[in-house]
Amino acid sequence: MTTSSQAPAAGQTAERTKRVLLAKPRGYCAGVDRAVVTVEKALETYGPPVYVRKEIVHNRHVVDTLRERGVIFVEDTDEVPEGALLVFSAHGVSPAVREAAKKRNLRTIDATCPLVTKVHKEVNRFAREDYDILLIGHHGHEEVEGTSGEAPEKVQLVDKPEDVEKVQVRDPSKVVWLSQTTLSVDETMERVNQLKERFPELQAPPSDDICYATSNRQEAVKAMAPECDLVLVVGSKNSSNSNRLVEVAVQNGASDAHLIDYADQIDDAWLDGVSTVGVTSGASVPDVLVMQVLDHLAERGWDSVEEVTTANEKVTFALPRELRKDLDENPDKPKSVR
Ligand code: SF4
Repeated sequence: MTTSSQAPAAGQTAERTKRVLLAKPRGYCAGVDRAVVTVEKALETYGPPVYVRKEIVHNRHVVDTLRERGVIFVEDTDEVPEGALLVFSAHGVSPAVREAAKKRNLRTIDATCPLVTKVHKEVNRFAREDYDILLIGHHGHEEVEGTSGEAPEKVQLVDKPEDVEKVQVRDPSKVVWLSQTTLSVDETMERVNQLKERFPELQAPPSDDICYATSNRQEAVKAMAPECDLVLVVGSKNSSNSNRLVEVAVQNGASDAHLIDYADQIDDAWLDGVSTVGVTSGASVPDVLVMQVLDHLAERGWDSVEEVTTANEKVTFALPRELRKDLDENPDKPKSVR
């Protein structure tokens, strides 16, 4: 872990009792960046409306901003006019959804994060080899619906500890666990250990399913949490990785932690008696929202900010091929999708 401080403002004393620890990495991951840029480029290239199935990423600010620019968010393909352009969100979709879009003659752009696609491929591979697949993830989450939809007859969801007892497998020597990409690393391993007690031959995924961004953000919170009286996680309620950051903060020593979409949701009562405030954000959160939180705290005396760095991320993903093709052909000219 490394820390760096902003220079103290004139008149500040060396002994500050109020300080902010700012986690790094935080905020946008490569998959979210790619998905948001995909929609922005689709708007520029084809013009509005651009339809997006579900929220492109789980962040209120991002979704509201794109809606203002002409994006129409729908729950499912049957709400999209025949022949229109539909973007699949970063969380991925099942083959059944792709098929439904095809039947409606929709033109689709797939903004599924490549790291989610990797888990889909693992499901397909183990299903082909006739394994029972135990998918650790949150019931009802879009990513889990898309991933298990690759082989619904072979996949069983394990969410809560009590789900472990309900699992039924055909052959205990052919069982593998996979996971949602945005879980708590520690809780997932607890669930795996529980499963191993029932199925000692349980196989692990070929590589980590919990993505680099999720685990890096959790590591940064773990590093700062023991010193924090309060941790503020910027993120939306339906963001799995943001919720996990709140839990990780408390489990690793923060006295209190809250999830907020915006700075104005900070309750002044949370700051009573607080010396050190930790700040971080989920993988779908633009950094402008974190800067607004820092401004809010500075106005109340927490104007000393130290960055707590546990990793430097350099991951980037290319835009979806179907979009790249049109951008390459004619980068400047707006196109009609019909
Ligand atoms: S959190 Fe991980 S899996 Fe999800 S979009 Fe970001 S990089 Fe991809």
